[in-house]
Amino acid sequence: MAQIKAPPGGAFLIEEAELDGVLIPEELSAEARLMARTTEEFIRKEVLPVTDRLEAHEEGLNARLMRSAGELGLLAGGIPEVFGGLDLPKSTLTLQSEMIALASSFAVTVGAHTQIGTLPILYFGTEEQKRKYLPRLASGETIGAFALSEAESGSDALSAKTRATLTPDGRRYVLNGTKMWISNAAFADLFTVFAKADGEQFTAFLVERNTPGLSIGREEHKLGIRGSSTCRVILEDVQIPVDSVIGEVGKGYRVALYILNIGRFGLGAGALGTSRELLRHSAKYANQRVQFGSRISSYGLIQHKLAEMAVRMFTLESMLYRTAGYWDVLFAGVDASAEGSADELRAVTEEYAIECAILKFYGSEVLDYVADEGLQIHGGNGYSEEFPMARAYRDARINRIFEGTNEINRLTLLDQVLRRAQKGRLALPQAAAKLKEAVLSLAPRSSDLSADPLDEVGEWIRQIRNATLYAAGQAWETLGVKIADLQEVAAAIADMSAVLFALESGWLRARKLAASGSPRSGLALSAIQVYGADACAQVEQWSRYVISAISDGDTRRTHAAVLRRILKPPLVDTVTLRRQLARSVIELEAYPW
Ligand SMILES: Cc1cc2nc3c(=O)[nH]c(=O)nc-3n(C[C@H](O)[C@H](O)[C@H](O)COP(=O)(O)OP(=O)(O)OC[C@H]3O[C@@H](n4cnc5c(N)ncnc54)[C@H](O)[C@@H]3O)c2cc1C
Repeated sequence: MAQIKAPPGGAFLIEEAELDGVLIPEELSAEARLMARTTEEFIRKEVLPVTDRLEAHEEGLNARLMRSAGELGLLAGGIPEVFGGLDLPKSTLTLQSEMIALASSFAVTVGAHTQIGTLPILYFGTEEQKRKYLPRLASGETIGAFALSEAESGSDALSAKTRATLTPDGRRYVLNGTKMWISNAAFADLFTVFAKADGEQFTAFLVERNTPGLSIGREEHKLGIRGSSTCRVILEDVQIPVDSVIGEVGKGYRVALYILNIGRFGLGAGALGTSRELLRHSAKYANQRVQFGSRISSYGLIQHKLAEMAVRMFTLESMLYRTAGYWDVLFAGVDASAEGSADELRAVTEEYAIECAILKFYGSEVLDYVADEGLQIHGGNGYSEEFPMARAYRDARINRIFEGTNEINRLTLLDQVLRRAQKGRLALPQAAAKLKEAVLSLAPRSSDLSADPLDEVGEWIRQIRNATLYAAGQAWETLGVKIADLQEVAAAIADMSAVLFALESGWLRARKLAASGSPRSGLALSAIQVYGADACAQVEQWSRYVISAISDGDTRRTHAAVLRRILKPPLVDTVTLRRQLARSVIELEAYPW
């Protein structure tokens, strides 16, 4: 097991990570793998065979499956032992989330329960709330749900209209309003409901299902994840005791933000797990289907798709376990059973908000690519409900919408970077200023693969980091905090940051695999060469887009000249490299790492 060192969140933007300091999935513990096997077995044997019945909303089925999952300990991993949980490392939970995501709808049910439905209590609840609810949530006897969104307030959640009025004797709140899109609503026993106390103070409350005045609307007719429950939650004069407040009155935004952060990480893990399964289906189909006398897997354009799926998944997986490894270290330093540990837990959770935003938008877009191109490989059969791809395509789409849309997550990334820079937690302005000073003496090497190819990719990463720093630094110098208003620029900076984190994480993993003599190291090298070559070209385009938006005339020409010094996109034969990668996918009929 590596000696992981947890750097401050977002540090990848300004400095190279130490090789020994990152976790790669190949180093996961035997316990993690055992837990994943148990989870996979449960999903394949108990859940996947009843997908149609779940989609038909068979009465009681979801709740029964949740109880079975609870009996196996699949809902308890994130809860401390003192509250009936298993307190598993984040890396183990990540692998478990991947397996649960083999059943997309059920994964939404589990995620809504274990993450957004449970964690508000763990991170913000009183000792009494924790003792009362967490053991039953861990066992699946109580199912949780998170009721934030309303018909007119989704991304802008703080504009919610639901009201909580304090009774004259000060002993109860009376809730009125309607929450929309609430996952698990049909069978949840416990809701975290967000409402404005006395019309002003956005606050989180715990509301039990059987509270008079709470009712559930009909199931929404959804495009996908039809086996999950999504309904309105209607609150009409729902009276709850004042000690149902989670955290502090008026601080509900903190509950929402911290919890969604964890949800975003989980969504990235789920996206990888589902992609793994879809790549299997796609490779298998490509090997069986014959057109023009040959298997379609022998054709370059199909191989390109299979290889590209594997490459994107490799980078996603590398980022996921790198972040999980950092979290393992930080969480290990917190005694969750100690009174007052919630502050520390929250700080640890928030540390990697930048990485979580990336994992959310990057992961959901990897999954969309895999589902879309997987369907394309299936041709007309991909469009038929007789084959798995049609459902997968519908199910995948939600991931770009919930847990904060991908647009909001891109904006969140920049917002987090700016906040940390302003508070001195991330020395980004200093790094950008240093780069500006040094830029004239920078001499990017001509980029071909003649040197040690791993070193060569390392050079591309330095170039991408410098281009990102330069573009972000110049945008900051020109626009200041108004940078957030130029959303197109903010999103381009978020995309450059994501590509940097993805490539560096894949590169660190490839180096570790090479150092350990792993038979998969050659394949890992090909993956990062393909990804890196494309990433350099993309970053060149994005950085030119940014400087063009923030400058004109001579200033723009100077910026362009600087960028040409910083970044030299390499010329790499990615056709041959992708074909090599595709050969492994086709041979194994699976993700090759
Ligand atoms: C199946 C499903 C399950 C869900 N489960 C839950 C749940 O369990 N609990 C819960 O509380 N909610 C849940 N949601 C709600 C979900 O979180 C919201 O749908 C999501 O946050 C987006 O809000 P919205 O639908 O109101 O879209 P809007 O906020 O109206 O967004 C519409 C479009 O505008 C964009 N946009 C919005 N604001 C900005 C901006 N400032 N700048 C640029 N673009 C912007 C968005 O990115 C999006 O593309 C669920 C939704 C679905 C569909």
